[in-house]
Amino acid sequence: MERRSVSTQSVAPDTNVGHDAESLYAEVALPLRLAQTFTYSLPLALRGDARVGSRVLVPFGRTLTTGYVVALHDALDPALGLEESEIKEAEELLDAEPLITPEVLEITRWISDYYAAPWGEVLKAALPAGLNATIEQVITITQAGRDELSRLPPRRAVTAKAQVLRLAAEEGFTTLREAARELGQSRAAKAVRELSRARWVTIAHRSRTAQARAKKRKAVRLLPPSEHSENGARALTAAQQHVVETLIAQGGEMLFAELLEAAGASASTIQTLERRCVVEVFVREVRRDPLAGAQLPARDSIRLTEAQATALRDINEAQKDGKYAAFLLHGVTGSGKTEIYIRAMHEAIRRGKTAMMLVPEIALTPVFSRRLRAHFGDSVAIFHSSLTTGERFDEWHRLKRGEARVVIGTRSAVFAPVGNLGVIVVDEEHEASYRQQESPYYNGRDTAVMRAHKERAVVVLGSATPSMESFQNARQGKYRYLRLPVRIANRAMARAEIIDMRESFRAGGRPEVFSAELLAAIEETHARKQQSIILLNRRGYSSFVLCRSCGERINCANCDVTLTFHRSERSLICHYCNLRQRVPDSCPACSGPFIFFVGEGTEQIEEILRTRFPALRIARLDRDTTARRSTYEQAILRFGAGELDMLVGTQMIAKGHDFPNVTLVGVVSVDAGLALPDFRAAERAFQLITQVAGRAGRGELPGRVLIQTYHPHHYALRHACAQDFDAFFDEEINYRKNLSYPPFVALASLLVHGEDLTRVQATAAEIRRALDDANTERHVRVLGPAPAPLARLRGEHRMQILLKSRSRPRLRTLIELALGQAAHTQGCDTNSVNVEIDPVNLM
Ligand code: ADP
Ligand code: ZN
Repeated sequence: MERRSVSTQSVAPDTNVGHDAESLYAEVALPLRLAQTFTYSLPLALRGDARVGSRVLVPFGRTLTTGYVVALHDALDPALGLEESEIKEAEELLDAEPLITPEVLEITRWISDYYAAPWGEVLKAALPAGLNATIEQVITITQAGRDELSRLPPRRAVTAKAQVLRLAAEEGFTTLREAARELGQSRAAKAVRELSRARWVTIAHRSRTAQARAKKRKAVRLLPPSEHSENGARALTAAQQHVVETLIAQGGEMLFAELLEAAGASASTIQTLERRCVVEVFVREVRRDPLAGAQLPARDSIRLTEAQATALRDINEAQKDGKYAAFLLHGVTGSGKTEIYIRAMHEAIRRGKTAMMLVPEIALTPVFSRRLRAHFGDSVAIFHSSLTTGERFDEWHRLKRGEARVVIGTRSAVFAPVGNLGVIVVDEEHEASYRQQESPYYNGRDTAVMRAHKERAVVVLGSATPSMESFQNARQGKYRYLRLPVRIANRAMARAEIIDMRESFRAGGRPEVFSAELLAAIEETHARKQQSIILLNRRGYSSFVLCRSCGERINCANCDVTLTFHRSERSLICHYCNLRQRVPDSCPACSGPFIFFVGEGTEQIEEILRTRFPALRIARLDRDTTARRSTYEQAILRFGAGELDMLVGTQMIAKGHDFPNVTLVGVVSVDAGLALPDFRAAERAFQLITQVAGRAGRGELPGRVLIQTYHPHHYALRHACAQDFDAFFDEEINYRKNLSYPPFVALASLLVHGEDLTRVQATAAEIRRALDDANTERHVRVLGPAPAPLARLRGEHRMQILLKSRSRPRLRTLIELALGQAAHTQGCDTNSVNVEIDPVNLM
């Protein structure tokens, strides 16, 4: 295997797909933090079957790894300077039918280039989790091993080595996993290494078949009546007759288990019927449907408003052209954007094409999924993070096989295996959740735009609060701008009002969680039998714990943040690394007894409200209460049905939902968000308030939005309350321009992390030096290294270097050069560097 730079590769064109000749070499991308691909030779057995897009098992270092074939070659490229003898053989072909379609191969290669991410890692992220095969070590006992085992005196037979030998002796072999279960990972691995050295066992690798596979169930169907069975039918017992009737009532076919239940029959009754050729028992593939049994909303026929019709016409005209076109659909909340998305997707289907819609995690509400299912029936496949592996697997295969032609999902649905794309919709395009926060770092929205570009599709970015980047693109004519200026039926937007908590403090003489205005509004809303939503961006009971004697705060041992008190669990929890510890009785620093809880979280808000308004039916929604999908769905559906009066929670309740009876939204405090050391803090606060305001007054009733703050004059709050996007944009874009922030420059962040601060600092300094060396023409501004805003996280120190340039290609080239240079420097560990192009979150 040998190095090769990714950027020099082309996907597939001059390769052997479709040739008769069998390729001798495969170029393989590995899911490791390595920029290049590797060349392997294909043994005779694999030559005929290997395809671009298939997974292969290949030796790498001392282990076997799953890789992805990105190209096939007849001969070694002399430019690589490789000798036949240096090349290793691929071990096993994992898919006869390639899993990665040409379109996905192409878009992942683009991501790999654009975001400086390893191609193999991107490909791995593009496939559903259940498909990524794992490899296991098989440990086979040798004759010498058996002899050794029989010689062992019983006293010695308790060592780790002896235990592994005995495990292997039982069936002739065992696996490292199995041994690790009994001995622990490191003891097992050590024992296996020693046994292998003594030649008492041999080690081989094999791929464990993917965890997810099609689900199969026994089913029963009625056979067509023949002479023979008709004769038999006369003699059916009452129980048998009942089984037959139950089957007929269900269309002649049922799952075995369901039939047993529905007919109240025993398995032997059905077996008898099978013997008599009345029914047939067979195995059927059943689909794991995330919406099985869900009640679907009625499909009401809606007449589009004029603004909607105009926007849709423009989008559909572009679809007719069959060329790339990009639209920014800017419509206030409740202006009917979703209706346009759905019709644009119908148009794609009508033209025989496929359609894709990306939504932020939070917008994928149960209500929304059901709405789509009502529109597209079985031809829609739905992806989001709380599907089970099996559900995800089935949805993915339905797309791959072409059974589903509409895909709706969160970020990674942009990799859906569909061809012939007609339209891609990105709803709430401004959402930070489109950015993947771990390697491979990519932005789902920007990837969608590029995918549309490559596949000559139409892309529609929709939002009530477009990102600065997209709005600027629209101003500059890169996107066509569509506006829905008013709500459906000219419903009033909810009035947003700022509540100055400084005044509340002056009046009450002490800090209060709730102002008198907000409490009064809650009471009135409830008296009118309407619903309210109360929002706070902090989970837990109180935000931190303070010692009143010495001023010490209790911090996480691993991270640079305070621990949050969670009363229901009686513990202090770190929201970054999930460290949990008991609440101390006295201060860990000075042993003083005056431990004090400061600030409030959703848990406390809920408690205050329950005490104050005992008649209110309240549900709290945050990461603590909604770890299970069903809990979240239940609460949302019950709230929608009017069985709850109030939702209390973090911003997961602020977005996407459509509850006509909600007339009050209260934001307990926006201040934490405004104070973040991130140039997007104002934009985020503006978006949050606008989105929240969009939750109130969606029905006939006018809504109210109350926002508590200690910074009532902040421009983001002022413009958000006035619902003046353009004014906010003008002020914010000036600030971005003056301080050289996106969209005026491309930004990259190099984050060096590690446990040893001295090494982290040395590496960061070395990278800075390499950047300066390579930055000869000073096209790129380099800032730092400086401690990252979160200077310690999960036990690691973090130093950050920020890069700004007007040219994104120059930025990427510089990073590539500098990291390449730094990698050769002693003591500089470039594996500890996260490279983020266009970072969304600078924390
Ligand atoms: P958005 O996505 O912009 O927030 P939606 O598409 O969800 O808005 O529309 C808001 C509400 O108005 C929904 O209940 C929707 O069914 C309804 N609606 C949308 N378009 C129309 C229309 N042309 N006539 C009547 N009701 C509409
Ligand atoms: Zn922590």
